[in-house]
Amino acid sequence: MTQAKTTPPDELGALSDVLDLDDLDGRHREDAGADIFQRITGFELMDQARAAGLYPFFKAIELNDGAEAIVDGKRVLMLGSNNYLGLTRHPKVMAAAHEALERFGPSMTGSRLLNGTTPLHEELEERIADFLGTEAAIVFSTGYLANLGVISALVDRGCFAVIDKAVHASIYDGVAMAAGKHRRFRHDDAKHLDEVLSKLPQDAGRLVITDGVHSMSGGIAPLPELVEVCRRHNTRLLVDDAHAIGTLGETGRGTASHFGMDAPDLTVGTFSKSLASVGGFVAGPRDVTEYVKHFGRPMIFTAALPPASAAAALAALEVIDEEPWRVTRIQEIGSKMRTSLREMGFDIGDSDTPIIPIRVGSEVQAALYWKDLLDNGIYTNASITPAVPRGQALLRTSYIATHNDEQLDHALDLFGSIGRKHGII
Ligand code: PMP
Repeated sequence: MTQAKTTPPDELGALSDVLDLDDLDGRHREDAGADIFQRITGFELMDQARAAGLYPFFKAIELNDGAEAIVDGKRVLMLGSNNYLGLTRHPKVMAAAHEALERFGPSMTGSRLLNGTTPLHEELEERIADFLGTEAAIVFSTGYLANLGVISALVDRGCFAVIDKAVHASIYDGVAMAAGKHRRFRHDDAKHLDEVLSKLPQDAGRLVITDGVHSMSGGIAPLPELVEVCRRHNTRLLVDDAHAIGTLGETGRGTASHFGMDAPDLTVGTFSKSLASVGGFVAGPRDVTEYVKHFGRPMIFTAALPPASAAAALAALEVIDEEPWRVTRIQEIGSKMRTSLREMGFDIGDSDTPIIPIRVGSEVQAALYWKDLLDNGIYTNASITPAVPRGQALLRTSYIATHNDEQLDHALDLFGSIGRKHGII
């Protein structure tokens, strides 16, 4: 068993005294007058956390090797990225990005609509539609913008977005941007979705939205049940498969393929996870993507995805099919880590994917655990509000198909010894 090298910097209680944890909820003081800067003065929590050596954010990654990285001058095992298939350093992906950079430069300096579309963007759209078995696909500059674009274009005045309560922030932001209203259904609860839909006006346009794989819990949405309810209510379903593409289904096609189903009405995805790049897409029927392409504001009013990023995603899509062992391996790793962590007594919730949260609860304890793991060469993500509700802090761990068993066993040893030290198990 590997011995932990550091001790926590302080007792939990003492730390809670020096950290102004109410700052976690933001700090807009309504009584501070017209100067908007005055309303946020006194936001000091992050500086307090820095002073205590417990600030877990914006960590500079000095080198990214995929399975490992260099942080603070030290090589660490990377268990905190979304590079699920380990393609960020794949020679074919690197070569494609290099070539596109040479041909087009770093940016098209304009939107897709007017001067930012290249043959690479068009090829990528065709490839995604082909990959998912949809009629068409359109490419946005990020997955976040894809959600904003499709939701705000479709959920117009008089319409309703009906969303799983725990969906990704970009779906909430898409709903906030849309002219229509929204309703929420209980997490992964098709029966409650049924009730919520039953209460909506019969002739109001509706779009049900869920993540395929939930980004913090690593749980899989009950797609067959959700589809059944949507069909009964004559309602379209959008699935955000950001974390499912590359990790779910025998060939990495995502949540629908995991359940042996056809693609949902609409799929949103990202290139910033399994596809080793940056960018996002919406896939579905051509008449819908055509509309979103011309009315989705993030397609029109922001700069196009850089061609090198499009080329990298295109190459990654090819590699997924050429090297199917990567999909098999990430599923194997997910299963090994979930089983081991559960056996050790960790609370990992309903994770069923290579996203495995270690649920800690207290924000301070999560930061202490995160720091101690990092000091011992394990990079994880401390997740606190607003990514998760207050008091439900967790360490989000995620895995890469190129991690070997020796690395994973080493991580398990450290999760265990350091977790015991912090009273997490
Ligand atoms: N949807 C989900 C479920 C996500 O987890 C994320 C990224 N964390 C996004 C969308 C946004 O993707 P991108 O990084 O491409 O903006």
